[in-house]
Amino acid sequence: MTEPHVQASLRGLPPMDSLLDQIWLEEWIPSLGRETVKRVFTSVVNDIREGIRNGSVENTSMEAINRRAASVFARRGCSSLRSLVNATGVVVHTNLGRSCLAEEAVRSVSDVARSYSTLEYDLHAGERGHRNDHVEWLLCELSGAEAALVVNNNAAAVLLCLAALARDREVIVSRGELVEIGGSFRIPDVMAFSGARLVEVGTTNRTHRADYIDAITPDTAMVLKVHPSNFRIQGFTASVDRQDLARSAMDRGVISMEDLGSGMIVACGELGLSGEPTIRDCIAAGIDIVTFSGDKMLGGPQIGCIVGKRSLIGRLKSYALLRALRVDKMTLAAFETTLRFYLAGQNDRIPTVRMISERPEALRKKAQRLARLLSKRISAGVFEVIPVSDAVGGGAFPAETLPGFGVAIRFRGDVPSTGQLLSSLRSAEYPVIAGARDDVAVFHVRTLLEGDEEKIARSLESVLSRR
Ligand SMILES: *Cc1c(COP(=O)(O)O)cnc(C)c1O
Repeated sequence: MTEPHVQASLRGLPPMDSLLDQIWLEEWIPSLGRETVKRVFTSVVNDIREGIRNGSVENTSMEAINRRAASVFARRGCSSLRSLVNATGVVVHTNLGRSCLAEEAVRSVSDVARSYSTLEYDLHAGERGHRNDHVEWLLCELSGAEAALVVNNNAAAVLLCLAALARDREVIVSRGELVEIGGSFRIPDVMAFSGARLVEVGTTNRTHRADYIDAITPDTAMVLKVHPSNFRIQGFTASVDRQDLARSAMDRGVISMEDLGSGMIVACGELGLSGEPTIRDCIAAGIDIVTFSGDKMLGGPQIGCIVGKRSLIGRLKSYALLRALRVDKMTLAAFETTLRFYLAGQNDRIPTVRMISERPEALRKKAQRLARLLSKRISAGVFEVIPVSDAVGGGAFPAETLPGFGVAIRFRGDVPSTGQLLSSLRSAEYPVIAGARDDVAVFHVRTLLEGDEEKIARSLESVLSRR
């Protein structure tokens, strides 16, 4: 039996007609549609009913209902996927969309997006062409490989290779490389999906050449080397040199494959880093098939690349699964333009490459400029340039930090708190994702793009004016 005051509250809720009749809804109905607006009110009123019954809601006024609905409209009324300011100093930030495209790559995307294109048309022959041709020759030039194929992402690249080249057969992987990469890419799972059988060799910390060789049977299709991405084993370790592995595989008629993850075209020394091979190094070492992402250190769009021996790539090209993994015209346009910068030796036109190789002195100047701008605009804050540790991200170079600079922000009187500030900046008109150190918000300048300084200033102003 429902208590009388509960019944009275339920009866007192405004009818849907009068809710939908309100003049302020004219702001939302044109973009969201009347049906959506109605569904939002229905769900808000249902929640309030539920709250009345279990005693968690007291205020059942029209204003209370409107307030709840308005916050849903505000969230649904603006684009969900939109640009933001990355002030974390993590260059290839997977949650923030990995690589930012060069302006020229963006222009080639919009060019083919709004128009018909040569996607699968050969202008010279006047007949059907192949979408892969736009980038295959570029990948070959830049890696020294005989052939190349692109798919939706690197996970798809690995899946396609395993399915087409090793289905129902054995693939040998070191136990030290059976990794999970962020976003639930697990080598054993991908292996299972492909229909290839995983054969683990060695131990977590040490795998030797003999471990691979002893595991090769007539059923073995492939030995696979996987980049351990965002983790490192330190101390008493051993792994097999890729040239050794490639030769051992070839001598026994087995395919050698390497999943590089974050493929690099420029030598890491040029970026101020060390210890990682380029794609060309892997091919030169004799590896038959190399896979890597286009949007990690390469700095292009989301795409998965497979480079290697012509006969093997040929088998991939005619494997039916490829049709489900193919790349769209906008991605191909962005990728071709990005690769052409490498071809021309203009690596620093690629934002990801430029950000990673930015020198600390340049970053200090950038931080000083940001601190001056913010000091001028935000009188309640104290802005200090501090050294920070940035990162490549994307699973590449997890053990190395990039020395950078940032601007730490403190408020006279300590309000808002750092947590409040970071959260308000996230929901500002130009969302800003900042870092924090010793409980102080820090804007890392390495990952700021042109115009971001002004956006940070405006977002800070709006956050403070709302208080
Ligand atoms: C990132 C990564 C992948 C997955 O690549 P996506 O492009 O995200 O699909 C696979 N393998 C390795 C080693 C990686 O680092």
